[in-house]
Amino acid sequence: MSEITNIFIDHFQIPLPVTLSDATHGEMSQFELITVKIADSEGAEGLGYTYVGQGSAGSIQSLIEDYKDLLIGEDAERIEYLWQRMWWELHYSGRGGPVSFAISVIDIALWDLKSRKQNTPLWQLLGGHDPKVKAYAGGIDLYFTIEELLEQTRCNLDNGFCAIKMKVGRKRLSEDIERVAAMREFLGTDFPLMVDANMGWRTDEAIRAARTLSNYGIFWLEEPTIPDDFAGYGRIHKEGGVPIAAGENLHTLYEFQHLIAADGVSFLEPDVTNCGGITTWMKVAHIAEANNLPVTSHGVHDLQVHLLAAVSNKSYLEVHGFGLQDFIAEPVKVVDGYATAPDRIGHGISFDWNSLEKYRV
Ligand SMILES: [Mg+2]
Repeated sequence: MSEITNIFIDHFQIPLPVTLSDATHGEMSQFELITVKIADSEGAEGLGYTYVGQGSAGSIQSLIEDYKDLLIGEDAERIEYLWQRMWWELHYSGRGGPVSFAISVIDIALWDLKSRKQNTPLWQLLGGHDPKVKAYAGGIDLYFTIEELLEQTRCNLDNGFCAIKMKVGRKRLSEDIERVAAMREFLGTDFPLMVDANMGWRTDEAIRAARTLSNYGIFWLEEPTIPDDFAGYGRIHKEGGVPIAAGENLHTLYEFQHLIAADGVSFLEPDVTNCGGITTWMKVAHIAEANNLPVTSHGVHDLQVHLLAAVSNKSYLEVHGFGLQDFIAEPVKVVDGYATAPDRIGHGISFDWNSLEKYRV
């Protein structure tokens, strides 16, 4: 038995290279990274991590701390068992939200540990469909001028991207439309262009926006409204006339199922660092498959490339990392529009701990 012997938690506050903004989160000048290393009795180690833009990192850290007693001494290979123990341990006061982030970090570390012990890359262990995954550049650019937006896009094209996402949700819809029109003009008719409203609209506003955006051939409209309004998503999907992506703010498996049941989504977009980890992410991918829907991703592309590589119903990998790639030894690269899941064992991500040290909280 591979017994969990120790859990090490670290917390860093990392400044962003440039200040970012979207429709609901205000200006972001830093992000917080929480990492967990799980060691077992045979000398193996697994690494998990999550990130938040603002707040709650301290709570997530202390929830992980709370889970230590439950995990130490247990068999590290029984991931589903440990996942259920963690879920029910804090279910009454903590279902979803920060608890899902805390479970995610630990779950990622356990899967890393398991695939390292089996001497196999994570994407192979999880299903091994195809290591090549289409990737898009996710811009956080709502208040960029049109010139800055196009300059960023030029840069993304030079860096190998063949699909791009931009933010929408400015004060007036006409401003969004002007920006989307400029991007469409620049990129050409068939270039995959996604737009992301970060929950900025009410249902009726979202439907009006979606109908107007449908004239610009957008690949998907992401998070048109709050994640809690499943019926609203159903209406936007049906009446808006554009494909809908959502999932980065869903923190339980059941929320994904509710969204699918409401016929509110075309692309499921779980984030492995906040939905409950790899265990939940794979379940979401499989219920998506059973509903004939593709799965995409949100954030942490170095990790999520493995998950999309594992499954057959993959859509695009989102590439935006808050600059975290600067702290990763061999970050995923995009070549001719594709990212490739690495052949290193586990998820194969090693942080540059020395460079991170000065950002320790
Ligand atoms: Mg988004």
